[in-house]
Amino acid sequence: MKFPTAHLVLVSVFCLGLASFVVAKFSEEDEADRFTTESVLLAMPKPLPAEQALGTTDGTYTENDLIGPGPITSPEPVQTLVQKVAEVQPGDNLANIFRHQGIAARELALLLESKPLGARLKRIFPGHNFVFTLNENHQLIKLTYSPGPLETLAFERTGNEFIGREVLLEPEVTTAYRHATIDHSLFIASQRAGLDDALTMRLAQIFQWDIDFVLDIRKGDEFYLLFEEQYLGDEFIGYGDIIAAEFINQDDSYQAVRYSDKNGGPGYFNPEGKNMRKAFLRAPVEFSRISSNFNLRRKHPLYKRTMPHRGIDYAAPSGTPILASGDGRIQSASRNSANGNFVVLQHGEQFVTKYLHLSKFARGVRKGSRVVQGQTIGYVGSTGLATGPHLHYEFLVNGVHRNPRTVKLPDAEPVLGQELKQFAAATTSYFTLLENYKQQIQLASAR
Ligand SMILES: [Zn+2]
Repeated sequence: MKFPTAHLVLVSVFCLGLASFVVAKFSEEDEADRFTTESVLLAMPKPLPAEQALGTTDGTYTENDLIGPGPITSPEPVQTLVQKVAEVQPGDNLANIFRHQGIAARELALLLESKPLGARLKRIFPGHNFVFTLNENHQLIKLTYSPGPLETLAFERTGNEFIGREVLLEPEVTTAYRHATIDHSLFIASQRAGLDDALTMRLAQIFQWDIDFVLDIRKGDEFYLLFEEQYLGDEFIGYGDIIAAEFINQDDSYQAVRYSDKNGGPGYFNPEGKNMRKAFLRAPVEFSRISSNFNLRRKHPLYKRTMPHRGIDYAAPSGTPILASGDGRIQSASRNSANGNFVVLQHGEQFVTKYLHLSKFARGVRKGSRVVQGQTIGYVGSTGLATGPHLHYEFLVNGVHRNPRTVKLPDAEPVLGQELKQFAAATTSYFTLLENYKQQIQLASAR
């Protein structure tokens, strides 16, 4: 189990040889909403082994373990230290946090000068904590700052300077499974399964080359997910990677597994070792913005027209980002009476994509400039001949209009080839785990 290590590291950060026990009082600060804890620490002549200071061995800890009463016998205090905790409030900056603690500006300057970690203090965020350790003369002895649950920066005074070090905690990583069946919205189904929207986005992004998450999601679609969760003790810290997933869209099943190929970073591959990425996104709109009614995009207002319709319409709130569906070059970014503001992208020799009725162009979008897949090129609007805000999207192959939803998209990355054996060895077990989970779910629902 990794936890005890993490625990000990944490403990040593806070105690660092100080046997720490609390005479703790909560000081009433002048600003009511500012949370400050103050405790008096008695410095010990000799550091205690961390296990001894720990107090508990059952794998749980509370804040009291960190500063709480340890099994200390007759300490001989040499110096009284005061510890204060201050939480960064919205609008706070370093200068006013230090001023509020009554710490001289010079101390802050010394901290910021300490290389290389001092500069990190300039990036502080509301909700994060500073822990100040001060001596009787109100001189700063030590400062710790935690930019995240897994990272602590500790600065300690040595003479007239501060020496900073970084302490990283290893979270315990466990795997977890989820299944969800979509009723109205992917995001709502995921939330019901206990997943947050950020993870749902990551799931959708894995499949976004195959599935149009704006137009193609239907009631009854479902997914099975194998992913990592990170814990620190009993506390859930966040999600790790999605390990494997299956998405069933209108009875078509898509499977993907995470794998790092020889060419570089990790990606997602289907069971045959084909990269999930393709040269074009299936839907060129940012679908998170229209997630609230994923399923309600069935009606295409312009299909009612008698004139031929050579693209797809994505009804979406005005201002929804429009994404370049593939890498390419801007052939035109212009305006006319029918199309309103529109962008035409050239992708190599064969492919052209068109985006019509934009409310405005994204910054830097002009004829001749390069774009990469997923880059925002403009925003949904209703300029030109449009009954309401929507994106009209066209996909041309060798000058011929094709249906963007069904056209076979070229691969962006090659199949793994000679690496296939290695790929299979590394990933088959994940597909098996996911399949077993799926069978359990199906058995349970059949009962
Ligand atoms: Zn249209």
